Amino acid sequence: MPLRLDGKKLAEKIEKRLYSRISVGLEHVRRPPGLAVLRIGDDPASAVYVSNKAKACKRIGISSFVSHLPPDSSQEDLVKKIHQLNADERVDGILLQLPLPKGIQESALLAEIDPEKDADGLHALNLGKLLKGEPGPRSCTPAGVMALLAHNQIPLAGQRAVVVGRSILVGQPMALMLQAANATVTVAHSKTRDLVKLTKQADLLIVAAGQPLLIGSEYVKSGATVVDVGIHRLAGESTTGGKNKASLCGDVRFEEVSKVASAITPVPGGVGPMTVTMLLVNTVMRWQDHCGLSFSLSDLVP
Ligand code: NDP
Repeated sequence: MPLRLDGKKLAEKIEKRLYSRISVGLEHVRRPPGLAVLRIGDDPASAVYVSNKAKACKRIGISSFVSHLPPDSSQEDLVKKIHQLNADERVDGILLQLPLPKGIQESALLAEIDPEKDADGLHALNLGKLLKGEPGPRSCTPAGVMALLAHNQIPLAGQRAVVVGRSILVGQPMALMLQAANATVTVAHSKTRDLVKLTKQADLLIVAAGQPLLIGSEYVKSGATVVDVGIHRLAGESTTGGKNKASLCGDVRFEEVSKVASAITPVPGGVGPMTVTMLLVNTVMRWQDHCGLSFSLSDLVP
């Protein structure tokens, strides 16, 4: 059996550290960290994600401020809302829940978030800092993957990594982070020719294609580490055949890839919980900065 890269367990561990970090901080400053989540429209998956984020905040002592705006909100009203949150002294982190309804310009809204309050690390300035290797809030999903790999002592330096997907949310920052850790990185996308040939060479395969069960054992080199970022709800089906199992799957066919990989993330319980935890980490780090507390990141995250 391959090593199971258990994001749920690691997320719980980091949450405990965050809880005590906040408790210690509150001996010096009067207000807890605050995270504002802006949800626009009625995407059902977003409703679940936003509620999970609010619950996670509550568990560790972050105040959460959720705003739910209608799908036909004007760009102008949304910008106004973001400016209000930028000015709100209780708020350390702002997250724009993606995807947005059609017609709303995502990058224009992300650009309005104060880079100092950018909980998701998606502001152009913070993406630039990642590119230059400067400190700053990092995109939560790839940062969560990096923490999971580090915690499980998966070697990266000199390893051949293939990232399937090139989105700004996951694939691109993932590739930059792996490169910064001295892996040799190739990024694949929907126009990549002969994907199997490429992924077969990977010591580390990160899949963020958003295609349910795309990657089977034929794509994976024996002994590779496989990280499945994808998450999909399958209507009325169970991927495992179990009666009470949630019908969730990733981009990877877990059962068959488990037979060739040396380490693999499950779905659920792999990358998903780490994404939420890194959002909490980013918020607490912003809070420390805003309140003049000087704790480091290294004793929070592996
Ligand atoms: P996007 O749809 O924005 O990007 C998907 C990327 O995959 C694109 O670059 C696309 O290529 C590429 N791609 C699509 N099909 C193929 C294919 N057949 N072969 C190779 N490449 C392909 O998705 P995101 O990056 O936002 O998310 C990816 C997945 O991760 C989704 O399932 C999403 O739900 C999940 N996710 C999970 C999170 C978690 O916490 N677990 C957090 C964020 C996302 P091209 O650029 O050419 O179109």
